[in-house]
Amino acid sequence: MKRKDFLKNGLIAGAAGATIISSCNQNSEAINAPNIITNKTVKWKMVTTWPPNFPVVGEGCKLFAEWVEKMSAGRIIIEVYGGGELVPPLEIFEAVSSGAAEIGHGSSYYWAGIQPAFQFFTAVPFGMNAQQIAAWMYSGGGLALWTELYAQYNLVPFVAGNTGVQMGGWFNKKISSMDDFKGLKMRMPGLGGKVLERAGGTAVLSPGSELYSNLERGVIDATEWIGPYHDYLMGFHQIAKYYYYPGWHETGSSLECIVNKNDFEQLSDDLKEIVRTATYRLNAYMLAEFEAKNNIYLKKIKDESDVQILPFPNEVIDGLKRISNDIYSELISSDSMSKRVYDSFWNFKENVSEWSVLSEQIFLNQVQ
Ligand code: CA
Repeated sequence: MKRKDFLKNGLIAGAAGATIISSCNQNSEAINAPNIITNKTVKWKMVTTWPPNFPVVGEGCKLFAEWVEKMSAGRIIIEVYGGGELVPPLEIFEAVSSGAAEIGHGSSYYWAGIQPAFQFFTAVPFGMNAQQIAAWMYSGGGLALWTELYAQYNLVPFVAGNTGVQMGGWFNKKISSMDDFKGLKMRMPGLGGKVLERAGGTAVLSPGSELYSNLERGVIDATEWIGPYHDYLMGFHQIAKYYYYPGWHETGSSLECIVNKNDFEQLSDDLKEIVRTATYRLNAYMLAEFEAKNNIYLKKIKDESDVQILPFPNEVIDGLKRISNDIYSELISSDSMSKRVYDSFWNFKENVSEWSVLSEQIFLNQVQ
């Protein structure tokens, strides 16, 4: 934006008794326009799908609020609410869309019932890892497509966190072939749940708070959750025999920050950039925290329990992949928006895979 426009916007947004950055005082134009940086406070409510203070993710939202407040010199104050504190966890999309809350944090795949295409912006089975998703979002057209879709719901989306590759889940029997999924009741959200059902299992959506007791009492036979850190905190290693990898269904789940479009557009340009920049920091913070903590807690699970940590056999991975591809084919033949997002996502995945194989994969296999 040109300096003249910036000054004009500052005046429009201005309130009496402005705070002025000292360097601006050296400019005569600034002296005549004391409202460049106003002390008008924008107060936002941030609703989240996470339990209050949920490790990494809920904690990250509170840090995000602190960063925004500091960067904006107190011009944006964000009050963070855990799921259920202001609105139920799975109603934050609607709450931010309607303006009941100005900002939210969650996962786009929770809103698959509104548009199935949204799932691709979080995670889909055999999708991309965190690094590839970031590349698609920021540099491969993903975020632009997502922004276009969410605009229909009066929302501006930002990439804001990634779990990295998740674990495949906790089981009390070995998974040696696709037949072992038959009759298996497993907590499994999203498209992963559809794959499980087609493999002959039953996908259950137990809330996180009930997962431990449901697994312990045999209400469910198995559960996926996140990765070693969060899974350890849930205590699954005390009640399950087998911990399988990889999380084929969530290969790098990308989390979202959503802002009500009207509220975002009312911000001055500098505040918009502060919010946007803070989402980048949140994205980096969460992935780093997951990566660092998962290492520590994988070791704790090994040291403190008799759980066997096993890979899914190749035959199982191949079977799950075949079913996933069938489900994608059906999804994109019946929903044009899903096809558009799928095409963008999968074209990027295929293009990036060759490079990933001879860079990251070789590094991990041969060099590390
Ligand atoms: Ca999960």
